[in-house]
Amino acid sequence: MRIIFRDRKATGRLDLESVETAIRAAMHQAGAAALTQLLQFEPPDADRLEVPCSCGHTARFKELRNKNFLSVVGTVKVRRPYYLCSHCSSGQCPVDCELGIVGLESSPGVRRMEAVVGAAIPFAPACEPMKVLAGLEVPAKAIERAAETIGAAIARRDKQEIDRAKQLVLPIVSKQTIPKMYVLMDGVQIPVVAAEAEGRTGRIEGQRARTRECKLGAVFTQTIVDNEGRPIRDSDSTTYVGAIETADEFGYRIYTEAWRRGWEWATTKIVIGDGAVWIWNLADRHFPGAVQIVDLYHARQHLWEMAALLYPHDAAAKKRWMIPMKDLLDHGWTELLVEWLREIAAEHAGTQPGLAEEIGKEADYFETNTHRMQYPEFRAKGFFVGSGVIEAGCKSIVGVRLKQSGMFWTVQGANAITALRCCQFNGRFEDYWDNARAA
Ligand SMILES: [Zn+2]
Repeated sequence: MRIIFRDRKATGRLDLESVETAIRAAMHQAGAAALTQLLQFEPPDADRLEVPCSCGHTARFKELRNKNFLSVVGTVKVRRPYYLCSHCSSGQCPVDCELGIVGLESSPGVRRMEAVVGAAIPFAPACEPMKVLAGLEVPAKAIERAAETIGAAIARRDKQEIDRAKQLVLPIVSKQTIPKMYVLMDGVQIPVVAAEAEGRTGRIEGQRARTRECKLGAVFTQTIVDNEGRPIRDSDSTTYVGAIETADEFGYRIYTEAWRRGWEWATTKIVIGDGAVWIWNLADRHFPGAVQIVDLYHARQHLWEMAALLYPHDAAAKKRWMIPMKDLLDHGWTELLVEWLREIAAEHAGTQPGLAEEIGKEADYFETNTHRMQYPEFRAKGFFVGSGVIEAGCKSIVGVRLKQSGMFWTVQGANAITALRCCQFNGRFEDYWDNARAA
């Protein structure tokens, strides 16, 4: 500090950035000294020499012990009473519990910062914002630990709520006016460490699985349509939930979220997904009576794939074939489309049995989903027919953070970060943090 002022006198210039950074460092130092002072505890009074031990016996005050930990103003030292249990010989410092630093090397304030940056960007590059923004030097491992620990705690809290919902102990959601509520589901592949993929067949036949599917769900509401009758999503109404888990488990997760958002009060209930069977199984089980819609763009993609099978080397023919097919789909004439596809399959049965089989499968897909492809009717009612919201979530909640090259996750780590990111996106992190600190 003195050097800065001396330089200013000598050169007449002020390098604002070095000055402000130096002042922050000085404030940190002063703050750390003050905090350390505040954290010098006295030996306990004569009537507080014993505390209960977790083994059921009592621990006796032994001595004052020092511990260093990182606070938001830098490293500080706490000196506090240490108690030892003669029965099980485990020791404890009740003060640590109060401060929220039991077995930890950083304060709750630092861990919150670490979780925020660790949720947003990979752990190693997260050291940089911790240094530049907070003036704290922390190793990547500490950021990883804090983000995953807090994420895991959020995941545990979510699970408790889901388990209660399984027992039909649902929170009371106050009556509200919700014209339309949507539930969307999708899956996104996350690269995992070898041990997590063992025994699972890969998506490409004969290859070891390298990924696991993270199931993601979105809930949002819609009240109005625009001048042309196109639906407009209520702003800030989207929440996401997700995890690598079985469809069964995920069913309860998305059901709990929809319930929390007021599903029972929605006048019109809509489920949108691609063709995946698990999605419609869950829709039938947890959201009976909801309108089911297959994402239009996904259905079109099925047509494009067939076009590519039929005309692998003829782009023009592919496009020509698509025009009437797309028309049938968009008009909701799915029965006709299925008939047409079956005819095409029959034509090729003799010469190209493999192709015929593929087309036959596609015909089955459109037949099974006919009632979910009544697009003109859905549009007339002002419904969304696309699953853009869930695809955006797959990218922005999961993809950008968990699918970067060179990343391999454990299921536990991926689920912790997913829980943390969903919690943040849903605007529930502050709530979570306040409750966790009060507990
Ligand atoms: Zn004990």
